[in-house]
Amino acid sequence: MNKAVFLDRDGTINRDFGYVYQKEKLEFLPGAAEALKKIRQAGFLLIIITNQSGIARGYFSEEQYREFEGFFLDRLKEQDVWIDRVYFCPHGEKDGCLCRKPETGMFYQAAEEFDIDWSKSYAIGDKERDLCICSREPVTGILYGKNGSFGPDRFCLESWKEIAQLICG
Ligand SMILES: [Zn+2]
Repeated sequence: MNKAVFLDRDGTINRDFGYVYQKEKLEFLPGAAEALKKIRQAGFLLIIITNQSGIARGYFSEEQYREFEGFFLDRLKEQDVWIDRVYFCPHGEKDGCLCRKPETGMFYQAAEEFDIDWSKSYAIGDKERDLCICSREPVTGILYGKNGSFGPDRFCLESWKEIAQLICG
């Protein structure tokens, strides 16, 4: 079985300006790439799970989303970070889909595709909903940034350096 780190994208790996899809607006958060490289070297799969309701809202098309995703992944590869898979939800809040976080559909899809050991895995995000899987499965949740509340089995860390230390030791 595989251990994985489930990553939110906007606001966690890159700065969130709201509905990020323009290449010129891509800005990685401090230390993110370096930390992800370390985490991958420690044997974790890197899986991005991202809500992209900008598609449902008509702010950008699925094609524009995919183009940005390719650009995003290429910029990470340049920094020796290889993402194993990206799952995105194109739906809006009122669509009632099972993929949009805090629904856990994308996490279970990943578990099916990658044979994931929940108990050795982590979820990282800047919002509580990014850690939704943690109340269903024994995944360790890490809230990134300053806005989090502390709960049982939740870590709240303000830097990627601290996150890499927690996961890799
Ligand atoms: Zn969805």
